[in-house]
Amino acid sequence: MKAQPIVAIKNISMKYQSPEGEIAALENVSLDIAEGEFISIVGPSGCGKSTLLNIIAGLITPSAGEVKIKNQVVNGPTGMVGYMPQRDQLFEWRNIWKNVILGLEIQKKLTEENLQFAEQLLKNYGLVEFKHKFPSQLSGGMRQRVALIRTLATKPDILLLDEAFSALDYQTRLVVSDEVKQILVKEHKTAILVTHDLAEAISMADRVVVFTSRPGTVKNIYTIKLTCASKTPLGCREAPEFREYFNKIWKELGVRV
Ligand code: ADP
Ligand code: MG
Repeated sequence: MKAQPIVAIKNISMKYQSPEGEIAALENVSLDIAEGEFISIVGPSGCGKSTLLNIIAGLITPSAGEVKIKNQVVNGPTGMVGYMPQRDQLFEWRNIWKNVILGLEIQKKLTEENLQFAEQLLKNYGLVEFKHKFPSQLSGGMRQRVALIRTLATKPDILLLDEAFSALDYQTRLVVSDEVKQILVKEHKTAILVTHDLAEAISMADRVVVFTSRPGTVKNIYTIKLTCASKTPLGCREAPEFREYFNKIWKELGVRV
């Protein structure tokens, strides 16, 4: 028997009303995501990727269809979902510790146990000595890690990453995406990553979902199996299958150069 999906996206459509008229952002999107799975979503700009994440997060209500998380219909934000936006959105006037506990503060979960967990995450990911520093004193990669720890501190089961690494330079992005993947595997999280970077999408994911242009629909889903000893996203880029997936999906995206 197939296990119950942790996220079940069923026949989602989304139409926005704008002064210029109606914009169909998503059309009939369905996708089941298993617990612990890492899903990458790729597709042309404006095809509704961020819209879908906002719907899963319960921040906006779809025009049709429903999302279920652990078999419960999403009708508003829940503590089960952590959202990591494109820019790290750290607050410059709060030190690292104050930034890390912000999510807990908002969700009114500042218990001793949760604070210890946040402290442990900072230790595990090499940031504890920066606790009293301010975001401007950290590198881009470190800031991104702080943002991730802030999200993990609230113990969400599902992480939504919207172009979470795009603001970083290439070198840092490789390192940070590797770290993030390892953290998520270690913490047994389910993740959905929206990215422009196809290599990043393939190297991190169990499945890559390709969207059509607007209104976004699921065009194809690739199950990624890479033969690589290291099992890290960076190492997996060297896998013999990597190029094949890359070329296939690249064609599918219809990117013209
Ligand atoms: P993506 O993340 O794939 O680039 P988005 O989900 O941000 O796409 O947007 C999908 C489409 O919906 C775009 O054409 C965008 O302009 C439009 N859109 C997004 N948010 C709104 C909104 N609040 N009101 C009107 N149109 C919107
Ligand atoms: Mg977007």
